[in-house]
Amino acid sequence: MVTKGPADVTQLRLGHVTGRARTTRGRTTTTVTRYALHSLGAARRPADGSTTAEVLCGTCGRQVRLTVAAIPVTMRTRQQWRIWGRIIGIGGLAFIVLAFVAAAHGMSGLTGAFVIVGVLAACSWPGMAAEARKHDGVKVAADETRQARQLHAVLRSSR
Ligand SMILES: [Zn+2]
Repeated sequence: MVTKGPADVTQLRLGHVTGRARTTRGRTTTTVTRYALHSLGAARRPADGSTTAEVLCGTCGRQVRLTVAAIPVTMRTRQQWRIWGRIIGIGGLAFIVLAFVAAAHGMSGLTGAFVIVGVLAACSWPGMAAEARKHDGVKVAADETRQARQLHAVLRSSR
């Protein structure tokens, strides 16, 4: 598998939520969030650590504070996502094995619970691995207002 590094800051955009559309096909409902994209302007990645940048949102006109992490910090965060994904995924598989053990010993009450926990955990593994690959280390600052965080996201321009 080819691991691509974090996207360049110039390839990232500040997205302002303009709408959410729910489409239902058969039994599957997907929610698509639409964004108006704006340049991150002069925001740049620091050499190490992380920094904050104020970016003007062209839709609502507010300055949105972002945190921009250096490449090494971003790669460490990705690594942590991967490690946690693996721990949870392998833990999930262990629960599924336990379910078989419980079933073999006639503890059918426990089997269902073990299977549910195991399958849920094992299924979250690929999601966390995907999250690790997508993580670019640039996001709306955690200390921004709740409203600002709900309305904005940092996205890759190639989406
Ligand atoms: Zn906005």
